[in-house]
Amino acid sequence: MKGKGMSLLLKISIGFILGIIFGFAAGPMAAESAALKDYVIPLLDVVGKIFLTLLKMLIVPLVFSSIVVGAASIGDPKTLGRIGIRTIVLYLLTTVVAIAIGLVLGNTIRPGVGMDLAGAAGTAQASKPLLEVFLDIFPANPIDSLVKANMLQIIVFALFFGVASLFAGEKGRRIIGAFESIAEVMYAMTHMIMRLAPYGVFSLIAVTAAKYGFSILAPFGKVIAAVYVGCILHAVVVYSGLVLVFCRKSPLWYFRGVQEASITAFVTRSSSGTLPITIANVRDNLGVSEGISSFVLPLGATINMDGTALYQGVCALFVAQAFGLELSLSAQIGIILTATLASIGTAGVPGAGLIMLTLVLTSAGLPIEGMGLVAGIDAVLDAVRTCLNVTGDTAVCAVVAAMEGEKLESRSVEL
Ligand code: ASP
Repeated sequence: MKGKGMSLLLKISIGFILGIIFGFAAGPMAAESAALKDYVIPLLDVVGKIFLTLLKMLIVPLVFSSIVVGAASIGDPKTLGRIGIRTIVLYLLTTVVAIAIGLVLGNTIRPGVGMDLAGAAGTAQASKPLLEVFLDIFPANPIDSLVKANMLQIIVFALFFGVASLFAGEKGRRIIGAFESIAEVMYAMTHMIMRLAPYGVFSLIAVTAAKYGFSILAPFGKVIAAVYVGCILHAVVVYSGLVLVFCRKSPLWYFRGVQEASITAFVTRSSSGTLPITIANVRDNLGVSEGISSFVLPLGATINMDGTALYQGVCALFVAQAFGLELSLSAQIGIILTATLASIGTAGVPGAGLIMLTLVLTSAGLPIEGMGLVAGIDAVLDAVRTCLNVTGDTAVCAVVAAMEGEKLESRSVEL
């Protein structure tokens, strides 16, 4: 789509801004104009709902196929060994911490309070005891989980499926090839549906702005602030800490070494697209060997998404607060589980996290309409979360290299 005029994200942002302006103007006018009240606003409502339903249609097949492929990407289980296990454990741990930071910020900044969309959609999920949350992630009948769109169960089965395929030799490879094709088709379908996003977002936000007026503005600013503060905190505390403790190196040296990759990620909003620069930075500036970097970094670009997970924590709370729904502690722990596992299936391309947000919202029993709210500001959030995603890969890579006894030092690069 590049080179053919405006980018999709720009169009979505324009749809969002025009929708807000239209809604603010139409809200007060609707009291006097029957045409607006009875036709235009209900029509926009229908357009918005169609867009959301189409998104829902994507969730189950997209999540299932992409997580199977993500899990299978860990490679040959026999050669995986110590480095692989350390890498995956570190990736998962840093992601859990990231989403916990997102949830803490969402609970303290409370970005959705004041939006007051209570009653506009959905009902809160009855809070479950913690043990039940854990028990519930194991599917007794995976087909039933697929039919009922029980996301955590789907993710768990997909992870088992992907990993088990690695033990099934040629037949396993063949079925993963088929899942790769399904995932590709689902991405293509996602792109088709996302083309409608500028209109869907326009309609959704126009209806919301018409109904609720100016009170909806400040919350968007707060979501952006919460995600940016969270990402900076995570990088400064967690990555600096890891580099200091395991690599015995100054965080400044580390951040300077990977800055090109971080900035490229911020600008391109794609972990996969940034990968060549990430690899070059980690090898040249941190001195990690080819053996480790060429395993850890591509895997990270596929399964490690700290920024995306953090963003999902903030956004889940934003949506809950905006719709006046309470998220119990066990529901929030459920979000940690879902977002951590979902990050494995999030593609390293612009906007993938937004699609995965629908999964997190669905599994927390939150209204999917919330995704329409976030979509308008998603480009701004995508930049910083991708930056954190990529920086996180480099931090884990440096730590794994240090654990393997590699000496981390900048190399002079011959051109
Ligand atoms: N754009 C992100 C990435 O490439 C994924 C996301 O949308 O969260 O890492």
